[in-house]
Amino acid sequence: MSAVTQNVDPAEIAKFSELASRWWDPDSEFRPLHEINPLRLAYIEQQGRVAGQKIIDVGCGGGILAEAMAIKGAEVTGIDLGEKALAVAKLHALESEQKIDYQLISAEAMAREHAAEFDVVTCLEMLEHVPDPASIITACASLVKPGGRVYFSTLNRNPKAYAMAVVGAEYVLRLLPRGTHQYEKFIKPSELNAWAEQAGLQLHDLIGLHYNPLFKSYKLAPGIDVNYLAYCTRPE
Ligand code: SAH
Repeated sequence: MSAVTQNVDPAEIAKFSELASRWWDPDSEFRPLHEINPLRLAYIEQQGRVAGQKIIDVGCGGGILAEAMAIKGAEVTGIDLGEKALAVAKLHALESEQKIDYQLISAEAMAREHAAEFDVVTCLEMLEHVPDPASIITACASLVKPGGRVYFSTLNRNPKAYAMAVVGAEYVLRLLPRGTHQYEKFIKPSELNAWAEQAGLQLHDLIGLHYNPLFKSYKLAPGIDVNYLAYCTRPE
């Protein structure tokens, strides 16, 4: 294995594999992903088209976002290193009659084989699970065409994010299984910005994803101190 293909934490893949059969159960551990999906899809559509675009979803898991973009008319490729999640994604796409190209391949290897082929690259809720997030960001920058859009989402690293995303979500509200997130791997927007810049991407917008425990609902709004989405482009 080369150095780049090792940018994966087997424990992280195992964690998601264990839950894989429940990926499409909206009442399972994946409930938060189902609930935030319409919001993130709307955000992606806010800056440009999804229909008719060639899109790659990096760390696609069971395909919650990949499939939603295919339904909107995009030509979607989904990649992940979790075999079980991909098997679930493929089965679900068959059921919903969506043609999606799911592949078990690292972002880095995909970028070497398919540089500058995609109009849009999405990499959501994945960077905080890999040993070297900068390498994933560089791969995403290679995958996108000049002029194309790249989206990331992750968790900020500060005491409030720890309180909300780890203590709150995993222990108090039990929205996620304990151990889903490792605080040390959370990413500050300044770090994301620096890695994006180094990769040749331009960061245009950051928006917060907020959970209201009283109404059990999510919304996109300013305030990026916990969960946030980033919109970048690759200059022409
Ligand atoms: N992006 C999806 C799934 C997020 S869950 C969504 O937001 O709906 C995190 C996903 O990242 C899991 O499917 C896990 O298998 C994947 N993952 C973790 N490390 C990875 C790596 N190094 N390369 C590719 N995928 C990885």
